[in-house]
Amino acid sequence: MEQHTGNLFILSAPSGAGKSSLYKALLKADDKVRISVSHTTRAPRTGEEHGREYYFTSVEEFNAMIDQDVFFEHAQVFDNFYGTSKHAIFDMLKQGLDVILEIDWQGARQVRNLYPNAIGLFILPPSLNALEERLKGRGTDSEEVISRRMSKAVNEMSHYQEYDFVIVNDDFDSALATMQAIFVAMRAKTRLIEQKNGNLINDLLSL
Ligand code: 5GP
Repeated sequence: MEQHTGNLFILSAPSGAGKSSLYKALLKADDKVRISVSHTTRAPRTGEEHGREYYFTSVEEFNAMIDQDVFFEHAQVFDNFYGTSKHAIFDMLKQGLDVILEIDWQGARQVRNLYPNAIGLFILPPSLNALEERLKGRGTDSEEVISRRMSKAVNEMSHYQEYDFVIVNDDFDSALATMQAIFVAMRAKTRLIEQKNGNLINDLLSL
């Protein structure tokens, strides 16, 4: 495998756990971290921009990209297709930047197989009630829509054990501090220090 001096992070959470606010705050606070922008076949939501939240593509384009081997991983998440392009991550990793893949548990499994050094983080809400409040807070949706979102969330949460770290988002600041600490600590992995400070290590062992 090619040498990369940045770390690849997988970030998963049920919708409503506060994942987006957390990674946005992390990106602001740490200039060595980037987020990979995925492709999706779902329609943009209000306020979303092509190239910022996602690259919005048709199903035909998405299938053509699969055939052209553009994707590092891709998955169907409920009714839509989502994928991470190889290009979106490897250029940044080579530059020594940490890259976050904000993907679901199916994508996470593929990435772990392809890239065993990837580090998995899972965000949990503090309670089911808090999650429901967050999911309701998004609009005036029917009970049926809310309960469908809740069962999707429980399905995603059932995979938390496949991740290296779990952060319970009961207090935003402490959840963010935990996340930052993980990113900083992972930069001291022996493998990375050998790559970044090879000369120093040769010197230190040369006596
Ligand atoms: P949303 O449509 O709400 O933005 O995202 C729905 C789900 O798709 C979330 O669980 C999100 O993590 C996941 N997702 C977003 N981008 C990707 C991707 O590139 N690959 C995979 N496997 N899942 C993704």
